[in-house]
Amino acid sequence: MHVFSIPLRTRFRGITVREGVLLRGDAGWGEWSPFLEYDDATARPWLACAREAADEGWPAPLRDEVAVNVTVPATDPERAHAIVRAGGCRTAKVKVAERGQVLADDLARVEAVRDALGPDGLVRVDANGAWDVDEAVRAIAALDRAAGGLEYVEQPVMDVEDLAVVRRRVGVPVAADESIRRAEDPYRVRDLEAADIAVLKVQPLGGVRACLRIAEDIGLPVVVSSAIESSVGIAAGVALAAALPELHHACGLATVQMLTDDVAVVPLLPVDGMLQVARPDVDDDALVRLAAPADRTAHWRERLASVGQDRSS
Ligand SMILES: [Mg+2]
Repeated sequence: MHVFSIPLRTRFRGITVREGVLLRGDAGWGEWSPFLEYDDATARPWLACAREAADEGWPAPLRDEVAVNVTVPATDPERAHAIVRAGGCRTAKVKVAERGQVLADDLARVEAVRDALGPDGLVRVDANGAWDVDEAVRAIAALDRAAGGLEYVEQPVMDVEDLAVVRRRVGVPVAADESIRRAEDPYRVRDLEAADIAVLKVQPLGGVRACLRIAEDIGLPVVVSSAIESSVGIAAGVALAAALPELHHACGLATVQMLTDDVAVVPLLPVDGMLQVARPDVDDDALVRLAAPADRTAHWRERLASVGQDRSS
């Protein structure tokens, strides 16, 4: 096992450095990078995903490239415009409902993004659950007008029950992201008819095969998204996106660029909005360059032993 430590370009989820473990097996490299605050039970499916990658490999791909979105943070309109133009993607995901900002900020950002994309591009917004139900209904209608039509709104409110209420009150499709963190969550989203689209992440949900089963069971269109992994972890998300029988939406897998460095010889970065379906080779020099300090390596070694102990549950 190798423990990596890669600085982020900007703070994300309160962290500035992404840490994780790379495991090597007969099938290749797998990444295990549960967030630091997760307990063993939460981190266990993440390990199943890494072991699947390392020991088993993935089902055969049905496509050789996957469309991805550019992500626009809660920034000013000029910068939002520039990010979309530089991204080369046909779909943009725009962060909205940022603390300390108002709806007018979101509207200006979304207008700038539409201008940068042109009429054929797709604009989706992500509120990360920050609105209440009435705020969401009001904001979604206004953002839909400002964008000249939204592809969908991601997690407008935090609770899955509220998500179902918002979905019934707006004319824009709703995607569930934060509402899907454990393997049982997608079924609850389905049963409550809380979303039109499910955002699936391979590590929290236990790997590519587990996600394929979930996708089949819930019968909702899927957007595959990342947990801000290195290229080794992103490859598992790409493998899921490539193996889904149907894929109608651009995926949130263009996140290697959020890291200042990468473990792959050729990082999994999009070209013209597309990621190639490939397993990246790991760069031996990068493993040395990005090796975590001794105390952090010891921490991850202990954590792996603890989480890996009980594989039956
Ligand atoms: Mg999201």
